[in-house]
Formats: sequence, structure tokens, C-alpha cells
Amino acid sequence: MSPATVRSHRPVDDAWMAGGACLTRADLPWIADPDQITPWDRLAMAGLCKDCPVLPACARYAHREKVTAGFWAGTHRDPDAPSILAGPRWAAQTLPGLGGLGDLGDVGGLGGAA
Ligand code: SF4
Repeated sequence: MSPATVRSHRPVDDAWMAGGACLTRADLPWIADPDQITPWDRLAMAGLCKDCPVLPACARYAHREKVTAGFWAGTHRDPDAPSILAGPRWAAQTLPGLGGLGDLGDVGGLGGAA
């Protein structure tokens, strides 16, 4: 192999990972696909990330390395994963004759359509 074909690997500073709060909760699905994660697990992981002492380093790493899987720095990195702000999918669905939580257009006036 000629010197021109040898890749130089940039050093990755991953020492911050030892301080991750996720290390204390290996029971949560940090590396699961989004459709295998319950809303409650998602909230639990996001809560741990929120108070994690290495959150900034984790977010920088996930951004710089273009991570596209797993739960990092408060969010799932799969671009198709539901937002934690979207809540559980059933809450946004309108139920026949009842209106779902996603149909809160007239909450203030409570008049609604009769
Ligand atoms: S921010 Fe979240 S995913 Fe990142 S190290 Fe902390 S607990 Fe783990």
C-alpha cells in the first residue's frame, strides 16, 4: 500500500462517555430502533440526558459524527423517529365522535362545534 492510500484517522475524544448518566440505566433502550421504544422509555431517557453532566459533549459528538441511530443527548438520532414533543401517537389522533387531544382548537372558548 502506498503512503497515498493510507487513511489518517482523526483522533476521537471519547473520554467524556465515562461520565454519561446513561451508564447508570442500562435497562433503558438507548440503542433500540424508534418503533421499539415506548413513550415512557423515551421520557425516561430524555430526563436522564437533561441532567447529564456530559450533555454538551454528547450533543457535539452526535452532531460531529453524524450519528443516525440510538438515543443521544436527549433525542433519538434516527431522522424518522417521532419527536418527544409529539407525545404518544394516540394523543394526536382524533377519535370518532370524541375528538382527540390533537383536536384542541377551541379549548379556550370551550364552544366547539355543536
Ligand atoms: S446526554 Fe444522554 S445519551 Fe449522552 S451521555 Fe448523557 S445520558 Fe448518555
